[in-house]
Amino acid sequence: MRLVLVGPPGAGKGTQAQFIASNLSIPKISTGDIFRANVSGGTELGKLAKTYMDRGDLVPDEVTIAMVRDRLSEDDAQDGFLLDGFPRTVPQAEILRDMLKDWGQKLDLVLELVVDDEEVVRRLAGRRTCSQCGRIWHVEFDDKRDDVCDACGGTLFQRDDDKEETVRHRLEVYQQQTAPLIRFYADEDILVGVDATGPVEEVTQRAMKEIRPYAG
Ligand code: ADP
Ligand code: ADP
Repeated sequence: MRLVLVGPPGAGKGTQAQFIASNLSIPKISTGDIFRANVSGGTELGKLAKTYMDRGDLVPDEVTIAMVRDRLSEDDAQDGFLLDGFPRTVPQAEILRDMLKDWGQKLDLVLELVVDDEEVVRRLAGRRTCSQCGRIWHVEFDDKRDDVCDACGGTLFQRDDDKEETVRHRLEVYQQQTAPLIRFYADEDILVGVDATGPVEEVTQRAMKEIRPYAG
């Protein structure tokens, strides 16, 4: 299975990706997570990415594409993968298509997580991430006022780019640069929209219902 999750920041891509990937036993590849790991590790890539991420802008295509090419070349991604947060521009999608074609592969399905802006802002304002295992929580919806991860006991943190001002800019960037992907994948006939409102488990079930016919 080769899958892509698209949707605005806060739609629940990372949350759903962890459940869908584990259901299908495929690696979850999140470009946001890889960039953040590079930022914490203080690598050259991290230093470059940070300037864009802090502003809520996209990291330039050539940098992002090179990073994804490396990751998709690893052994564990040969039989399938779930991409979370990539592609995010039409040029990224075109290069991904050509790259997979060169390798005799293609995407099976692109799931668009559909939620309105108001819900997205509520979700991002309360997002917390575990500094140890990376699991995503929500202050209000998961009642996480103690900042401790129920999965591993790690400490939760709030992402710098989840500040209200940056969130507004990220939503504009989504509309301008990422939303055109919906048309791109609809034209390729591999796009399916999933209602991403309601409890996390229900969204996972809706997504799995769309995915199952394609899973071997
Ligand atoms: P969210 O989960 O809120 O959608 P991500 O964790 O996916 O955010 O991404 C965080 C930031 O990392 C983005 O705002 C952007 O700066 C950078 N980033 C992640 N994926 C990409 C990509 N495919 N292209 C360019 N920049 C990216
Ligand atoms: P994205 O990766 O698309 O930016 P996340 O998966 O990080 O989105 O989710 C953003 C926030 O919304 C997190 O705090 C997460 O716990 C919360 N969230 C995700 N899905 C739901 C849902 N179905 N209902 C309520 N909150 C959710």
